[in-house]
Amino acid sequence: MEKNITSHSFVINRKARRMANGHNSFLIFFTGLSGSGKSTIANALEEKLYRSNVKTYILDGDNIRLGINRGLTFSPEDRSENNRRIGEISKLFIDAGMLVLAAFVAPYKKDRELIKTTVGKDNYIEVFVNTSIEECERRDVKGLYKKARLGEIKNMTGVSAPYESPINPDVEVTHHDTVKESVEMIYEKIKLKLEIINNE
Ligand code: ADP
Repeated sequence: MEKNITSHSFVINRKARRMANGHNSFLIFFTGLSGSGKSTIANALEEKLYRSNVKTYILDGDNIRLGINRGLTFSPEDRSENNRRIGEISKLFIDAGMLVLAAFVAPYKKDRELIKTTVGKDNYIEVFVNTSIEECERRDVKGLYKKARLGEIKNMTGVSAPYESPINPDVEVTHHDTVKESVEMIYEKIKLKLEIINNE
């Protein structure tokens, strides 16, 4: 089937869309345990960027799993497929000229590597939200840790499934940083990258 598919070069391409938006497009990928603060920090960063007229879009574990990835489980194979699709979706949004903020547990290093390869290493900024399991469990935002400890949920990252910490993330924030401080650290890292400087 794939041998009969040829990609078409459209006139209005990524470069044109970036120029029209007045900024670069890439992926900021937030990884960390459930409840670590990925969505909270992504949301606060998006607010700041929105005020600067940056075109953003958030991809988040729950909205993706309720929609396009509905039906995928938390088995290692399905988690990898979940992440593979997230990489492909991010690539489309980057092509569309958007700054993508993706907040996913993404516990396996190889899955994050695939996302990086899919969007291109120059289009990938990794943010490790390094909140300890104890703090995530204390927050237990969605009540998932309690259920996992009771054995009601299997494959819970940090409890009954592994989390492979990023070794060399572009930005690392911890629960000792406030949301505002975390946003500032990420913003400092991306602000130059947002500018269009011969990026094609
Ligand atoms: P995740 O997206 O990683 O699953 P959420 O952002 O949904 O996590 O939940 C994190 C929770 O922790 C939120 O209720 C947030 O208000 C709280 N929180 C407390 N301190 C911080 C902090 N310093 N950074 C991020 N979130 C924090």
